[in-house]
Amino acid sequence: MKGKFTGGVHPNDSKDTRESPIQNLPLPDELKISLLQHIGAPATPAVSPGDRVLKYQAIAEPSGYVSSSLHAPVSGTVKAVEPSPHPSGRLIPAIIIEPDGRDEELDLSSSADPDLKKGPEAWKKMVGDAGVVGMGGAAFPTHVKLNPPGDKPIDLLVANGVECEPFLTADHRLMLEEPESLMGGLHLAMEMVGAKRAVIGIEANKPDAVEKIRSMDLPAGFEVEVLPVMYPQGAEKQLIYALTGREVPTGGLPMDVGVVVQNVGTLAAIFEAVTKGRPLVERVMTLGGTMPKGPGNYRVAIGTLLSHIVENTGGLEGPAAKIINGGPMMGQALAGFDSTMTKGTSGLLVFGPGESRVLKPRPCVRCGTCVRSCPVSLMPHTLGSLVEWDQFDLLEEFHVGDCIECGCCTYICPADRNLVQWIRQGKAELITRSK
Ligand code: SF4
Ligand code: SF4
Repeated sequence: MKGKFTGGVHPNDSKDTRESPIQNLPLPDELKISLLQHIGAPATPAVSPGDRVLKYQAIAEPSGYVSSSLHAPVSGTVKAVEPSPHPSGRLIPAIIIEPDGRDEELDLSSSADPDLKKGPEAWKKMVGDAGVVGMGGAAFPTHVKLNPPGDKPIDLLVANGVECEPFLTADHRLMLEEPESLMGGLHLAMEMVGAKRAVIGIEANKPDAVEKIRSMDLPAGFEVEVLPVMYPQGAEKQLIYALTGREVPTGGLPMDVGVVVQNVGTLAAIFEAVTKGRPLVERVMTLGGTMPKGPGNYRVAIGTLLSHIVENTGGLEGPAAKIINGGPMMGQALAGFDSTMTKGTSGLLVFGPGESRVLKPRPCVRCGTCVRSCPVSLMPHTLGSLVEWDQFDLLEEFHVGDCIECGCCTYICPADRNLVQWIRQGKAELITRSK
C-alpha cells in the first residue's frame, strides 16, 4: 500500500450479515424492469405488451454509447411498458413481465466463449451485449470502462472488494463464495484493457475474504492489498491513491493515471457474460438494518419489488421509519417499498422509529471538522452555506464538481448541517442553469 487518502470517517461498520451465506430469493409474480438501471441514457424498449419472452432475452436496447441493454430475468409475458416507481423517487418507464413459471431460457451457446478463444475485442462486445454495469452502486456501463482510448495506456486493474459502506456485506460474501468467477473476470478485464498487473483491494474487516483470495494461488502480477477500515476507502480515487500513490487529477478519470477499477461483483458478471454468454439479470444484495426479520445476503432478480424482498424474508419486526436503497452513507432514502431492484441495488436497509432523526441544522460553529473529514480537500461548510444563501454562482470557485457526495461532512458535523444534501442541491441547480 502506498498512501492514506486525506479525510474520511470511521462509522461503526455494523456488518452483522457478514456470516450470512448468499440465498436465492423466490421469484415474484410480477417484475418491473426499469429502463433506467445505469448512468447515462435510459434503455429503449425492444418488446411490446403481449410479447412472450424467454429468460435472458434482450428486452431493451442501449440508447447511446453510455447506456446499457436489459434482459428478461424469467420467461413470461410482457404486460405493459409504463411509468413505475424508481429508487430515485421518480416515476420511470419500466417493462412489466408476468413470469410463466416455466423458466425457459434463450439458447446462449452462440454468445458464449467457454474456451476463451474469441479475444479481448469480442469479449468487450459480449460484456456490452450482456448489459453489465458497475455493481458497486454507481452502475456505469462496464463496456465503456473496458474501452479506454488508445492514448490512455492502462497498466493496472484494481478489483474493488473494499465495500466500505456500513451494513453491506454482499461483496464480502461474493468474494468468499464465488472467488473463481471474480478471479476469472479479473483475468478477462486485464486482457481487455491491456493491464499487466492486478491488485485486489480488501478492507481489513474481511480477513476471511483476504485469506480466501490469497489461497487461490495467485499468478505473477496479482496481489491482494489489505486496506485500513476507513470510509470512503472504496471510492475510486481514494482507493487508487491508497494502493498506488497516484492522484487522479481534478475532473479526470482513473484511466488518466493508467488504472481501471472494477467492483468484484462486476468482475463476476463479466466472467458470466463471456464464458456463458449470460446477461446480467440478477444480483446479490444485502438486506440489513435493525427491522428485517430475515437480514442476510440474497440473490434477487432485477425488477423484483422491494416489498417482495421484505415479505419473502420474514417481514419486519415493526413499522419502518427509515428505508435506504444502498448503504447509509451514500444510499438513497426511500418513501416505501414500492420501487424495484435495479442493477445498482447493493442493499436495502430498514430501520425503526427512534433509530434515525431528521437533521435540524444549526448555525455553523466554524469548527473545521467537515474540512478535515473531506476526502477531496473541499470546504464543505462554505459549499453548504453558499447553497443556503442562494449564491450558486460561487459554487464552482469552490470546486463543487469535485465533491464525490460521500457524506462524510454531514456525518461528522456537530451542528447537524446537512452539507451533502445542500451540495447535491447546488450541483443540480448548476446543471439546470447550464441548459
Ligand atoms: S460529501 Fe463532498 S464535500 Fe462532503 S466530505 Fe464528501 S466529498 Fe467532501
Ligand atoms: S463541521 Fe459543521 S459546524 Fe463544523 S465547520 Fe463544518 S459545517 Fe461548520
